Amino acid sequence: MAPLTGILSDLNRVLLTADQIHDRVSAMAAQIGSDYAGKVLTVVVLMDGALFFVSDLLRQIDLPIRLVTLGASSYHGGLESSGQVQIQWPAGVRFAGEDVLLLDDILDTGLTLSALRERLLAESPASLRTAVLLDKKRPRNHDCPLDYCGFEIADEFVVGYGMDYQGRFRNLPCIGILKP
Ligand code: 5GP
Ligand code: MG
Repeated sequence: MAPLTGILSDLNRVLLTADQIHDRVSAMAAQIGSDYAGKVLTVVVLMDGALFFVSDLLRQIDLPIRLVTLGASSYHGGLESSGQVQIQWPAGVRFAGEDVLLLDDILDTGLTLSALRERLLAESPASLRTAVLLDKKRPRNHDCPLDYCGFEIADEFVVGYGMDYQGRFRNLPCIGILKP
């Protein structure tokens, strides 16, 4: 792939390179594949931030996966969470008796994932686990148990590999911190 030198120059620094991300995502896929061996896994993914994460991860898991995409937002395109989660739940989607893995890009305050977990548990799945690519090390207002985590990062606002700033920079292959 050609290096995206144009948007890379908007970064203050690269936190995780594309190679580091891909190696870690492969390891997570191997772990999840063996943990769910013999089962039909349902993956519920939060769009759009987890777009590339879910795409790279699921194509390396050798199971007949059912994929459900959901929209949930608390950021509304800015840097700060609004404190309220809006979930766009598709009509007629049910998870009763299924082994569900909830996927998101990043665990920050925990607001989004704890709200989603609660909503999913109300569906009576056979099991519910949670996976994120990034876990921000910060005090958490909302408790959210993580079963799979790619990387722990410091409490800084990151972009790239699906994560945006005001709708932009999702297409960066690496993860980095923007210039102020
Ligand atoms: P939480 O509800 O845990 O506070 O926030 C989770 C959501 O906020 C994530 O799914 C992600 O969309 C967004 N978010 C949290 N931290 C960051 C960040 O550093 N960069 C970007 N682009 N989004 C973030
Ligand atoms: Mg998100």
